[in-house]
Amino acid sequence: MLRLTPFRYIAPKTLEEAVMALVEHEESAMVVAGGTDLYPNMKRRQFEPKVLVGLRNLQELRCIEGDAGRGVSVGAGVTLQEVSSHPTVMEHYHAFAKAAGLVSTPPLRNMGTVGGNLCVDPRCNYYNMPYPWRRAIGFCLKRDGDICLVAPGSNRCWAVSSSDLAPVVVALDAQIRLHGPDGERIVPADEFYRDDGIDYLAKRREEILVSVELPPADGWRTTYWKLRRRDSFDFPILGVAARIKMGNGGRVKDFKLVLGAVASQPVVVEEAPGLLVDRRASPRDVEAVAEVAFAAAKPMDNADGAYYWRKRMVRPYVRGAVMELLGTG
Ligand SMILES: Cc1cc2nc3c(=O)[nH]c(=O)nc-3n(C[C@H](O)[C@H](O)[C@H](O)COP(=O)(O)OP(=O)(O)OC[C@H]3O[C@@H](n4cnc5c(N)ncnc54)[C@H](O)[C@@H]3O)c2cc1C
Ligand code: SF4
Repeated sequence: MLRLTPFRYIAPKTLEEAVMALVEHEESAMVVAGGTDLYPNMKRRQFEPKVLVGLRNLQELRCIEGDAGRGVSVGAGVTLQEVSSHPTVMEHYHAFAKAAGLVSTPPLRNMGTVGGNLCVDPRCNYYNMPYPWRRAIGFCLKRDGDICLVAPGSNRCWAVSSSDLAPVVVALDAQIRLHGPDGERIVPADEFYRDDGIDYLAKRREEILVSVELPPADGWRTTYWKLRRRDSFDFPILGVAARIKMGNGGRVKDFKLVLGAVASQPVVVEEAPGLLVDRRASPRDVEAVAEVAFAAAKPMDNADGAYYWRKRMVRPYVRGAVMELLGTG
């Protein structure tokens, strides 16, 4: 049986107290929200914090506020279950509610939070393993070792961004609100994620994610499609997040497409808007979008399923998501 290492649990009552605890205990402290990702990772000795700063008492992290006209603020401490069944989020930010509702299993969605999901540690078949297994293969760059076992010639880690909400917040142009020792700052979602399996967030260790700010929905249709081995349980091995706005005469006014779980950060398919915007999208246009998404996806051999199969699945998943948004699926 895998056991947790001993740690001290601090339960601050305010955001300031939580930040101060992270400052005081420096590298030995980590934040814990629902613990659904962190505790299993600790059992595998991927992290060995001596102090955990629990966020459960922080009421300011627990609310969903706003409306489609002004935009909606979703607190980091809101559970995936709560946000996936919230009427405003379901109606106006369908992709967000759907992605949250597709995370793992009901027990994990009842414990797991939006903030924890957005900060979830990138995954790799050579890393999300118990300590004795990793020791037997000589460890790797991400923890305790000095080479990447997936790409030994590379000097970086290629662990996979495996959060369901990460590609969605990038697709929606959301903003991430952080609170740290120097106060509050806001980071656009597409700058929050870095293409690095170790240093994957533009967030300092002592900063706490307070909320995700969803912009006004403004006539958007949004969706999220998820590929995984077991539909009842698994992490994504491909995520497709997209938003569209229709203009006059059935022409596309605005479109954004983002892929999850194909790199260490969500991948924006830069060429996609140019293929649909200002057009009455035809099946051939949709096919062109699927093709540029296929080219942009570069999964590595370090997640569930063969990497070439995961890449091949990009075309049908993008096609399906875009057709759903166009109302032709
Ligand atoms: C079997 C299994 C299946 C899973 N399937 C999926 C899946 O399909 N999709 C998916 O996306 N995830 C999946 N997960 C991962 C996890 O359950 C979810 O991502 C969940 O939303 C994490 O939220 P949490 O509150 O439990 O985070 P925690 O485990 O508490 O924290 C996760 C990380 O985020 C940090 N953190 C948490 N909150 C904050 C905050 N407010 N500010 C700063 N840092 C913070 C923690 O320090 C930690 O590094 C799965 C996990 C397991 C064990
Ligand atoms: S991508 Fe390489 S360095 Fe990163 S976790 Fe996997 S084996 Fe380790």
